[in-house]
Amino acid sequence: MTQLPITLPASGAYTLANLRLHRSHLDKTGGFAFDSEGFALAYVSISDSAITSIHPATDTTNMPDPIDCRGAIAFPAFVDCHTHIDKGHIWARKPNPDGSFPGALTAVGEDREANWSAHDVERRMEFSLQCAYAHGTKALRTHLDSVPPQEDISWPVFETIRERWKGRIELQAACLFGIDQAQDEAWFNRLADTVARHRGILGAVTYMVPDLDALLDRMFTKAIALELDLDFHADETDDVNAVSLDRIADAALRHGYEGKILVGHCCSLARQPDDKVKATLDKAARAGLSVVSLPMCNMYLQDRRADATTPRWRGVTLLHEMADRGINTCVASDNTRDPFYAYGDLDVLEVYRESTRILHFDHPVGAWPATVAANPAQAMGLADAGILKPGASADLILFRGRSLTELLSRPESRRTLIRAGKLIDATVPDYQDLDDLMEP
Ligand SMILES: [Zn+2]
Repeated sequence: MTQLPITLPASGAYTLANLRLHRSHLDKTGGFAFDSEGFALAYVSISDSAITSIHPATDTTNMPDPIDCRGAIAFPAFVDCHTHIDKGHIWARKPNPDGSFPGALTAVGEDREANWSAHDVERRMEFSLQCAYAHGTKALRTHLDSVPPQEDISWPVFETIRERWKGRIELQAACLFGIDQAQDEAWFNRLADTVARHRGILGAVTYMVPDLDALLDRMFTKAIALELDLDFHADETDDVNAVSLDRIADAALRHGYEGKILVGHCCSLARQPDDKVKATLDKAARAGLSVVSLPMCNMYLQDRRADATTPRWRGVTLLHEMADRGINTCVASDNTRDPFYAYGDLDVLEVYRESTRILHFDHPVGAWPATVAANPAQAMGLADAGILKPGASADLILFRGRSLTELLSRPESRRTLIRAGKLIDATVPDYQDLDDLMEP
């Protein structure tokens, strides 16, 4: 019997036998005997760096070097479509004074002005990516605070880091600023050019400012002109009057926009009346929006009470209702160890575990495992991520758990990572590595 972690033959040609795969991670599901959670035993043959076949057969006579994985669950390498690695890990020098959203905004703004040199941003980004890689992530989108003068510091750093991480983590970046800042059209045009030059995504935080529609028009017009995808932080609040998801959908339809739009948070939707919710979601589906929920960050910031009473709601958006309408739904890490979220390590399995608990990704499991794989890959426009299929790069994460309860009950910190057909020995960096940046 083979124990995990496994060893792989030097030839690079082998078969992972008795692996348990989820139907939402496969492009072809015929012939597999799926259990009630959607998992089935499979045999995955790999040659050089690619998957050559995936099948349910139990006859291994023609398979190269079968390795018995004893029913362990495997996921495709993770896709984390909403993070902030430019903010990550500043907690030690700049905590959130009260755990509130305004507290986070103020603290990050002060720290950015005081400390975010190219060196500081690069070191912390590097640390974050080492964490993400060690947990099994192969593609990641970060937002980059692009409030002057930070855009001129962070975007060149990002470009350097994207090159350095090529082949390990495919990186994307979206600019981030409060949408009211786009009232300064000259500045906005310059930022959009910077984003386009670095092959980024045009992003902003929407607020219910009086000229929201005009500012969205400005962003959509620019995105169409420069052929940029769009990414919004929307309605990260319990205020029922925050309806920017609806306004973004309107703008997408108004402009006949054909690029990809990813909208994050949409918390206030869960507080709105059913008829309003239904109308907004029908429109979002028509507009082809993808939505990413950030459950850990929402739990931390939403319904935080100044009088120290107990939070009464979870803060997450209506992913079930969205998925029912065919809206592409994702979950992601969001912030890590910064004033917006004091915890986290860019571990997408943790995101999935917490999502299962907070958003009820169970009974039935349905297609929810795709929210950390195929769905974010689609939102990010990645062809070779999130789906296990012949011809795809052999990028898998093997866990010890053989069922959902085994998978999600332990941290699975000794998971086995296969990238391009080879075992990788990646470990998370020591917190001490950043100590010299944390001096006040
Ligand atoms: Zn965010």
